[in-house]
Amino acid sequence: FDDLGQDGAPARLGIMGGTFDPIHIGHLATAEQAREAYGLDAVVFVPAGKPVFKKDRAVTPAADRLAMCRLAVASNPAFCVSAMEIERGGDTYTVDTLRELRGHYPGNVELYFITGADAVAHIVQWRESAAIADLARLIAVTRPGYALTAERRREIEEHGRFDVSYLEVTALAVSSSDLRARVRAGRSIRYLVMQRVLDYIAVHGLYAPEAAGEVRR
Ligand code: ATP
Ligand code: MG
Repeated sequence: FDDLGQDGAPARLGIMGGTFDPIHIGHLATAEQAREAYGLDAVVFVPAGKPVFKKDRAVTPAADRLAMCRLAVASNPAFCVSAMEIERGGDTYTVDTLRELRGHYPGNVELYFITGADAVAHIVQWRESAAIADLARLIAVTRPGYALTAERRREIEEHGRFDVSYLEVTALAVSSSDLRARVRAGRSIRYLVMQRVLDYIAVHGLYAPEAAGEVRR
């Protein structure tokens, strides 16, 4: 979306960060509903290089997560994928991503960082959360199983003077962790990810340790 804001008119860019291991319908529906609710001109999905909160498990190679994101968003002209966090290398920090995007676009492009109720709870621990607050507005979306209590909201707002809006999105209790577990157990994840992502997982034998290379559908 290089032409975003180039004509001087105000524009709004949504940013959807995540590990996307794999990207699923919860991510896509969330981005779409945030786009609609806030009049975002585009949403960019930014798969994390090395997620700082996920050091406890082996994350699927970045190239695969990136490829699945690209397949998943291909049918939506308002969506795109950026490899910026993967290419940057090192640990992934949201503040670096927002700074890079801020530097890339003119001032009339507003940044909206979209995050689920579970991830927004981490905000107070994020590196330079005050800087994040200056760079982007936050859209905190509902996610089944993760309540954002009034107390939690107050904590977030007080901590980094965030401009947060709360958006209720269609409740989809889908998580990448559950999808990985299903594949590992030989169960179906059809309809929970885009068909092209399903095919990619099968062809590349992802998430199935004992069936490496074997094609499963
Ligand atoms: P994992 O189980 O591996 O943590 P995940 O499903 O939580 O995977 P992430 O890549 O960690 O996916 O999440 C990226 C972003 O999408 C986060 O802000 C997260 O809160 C949000 N998100 C993920 N799934 C949903 C969902 N079903 N509904 C709403 N938001 C979601
Ligand atoms: Mg998660």
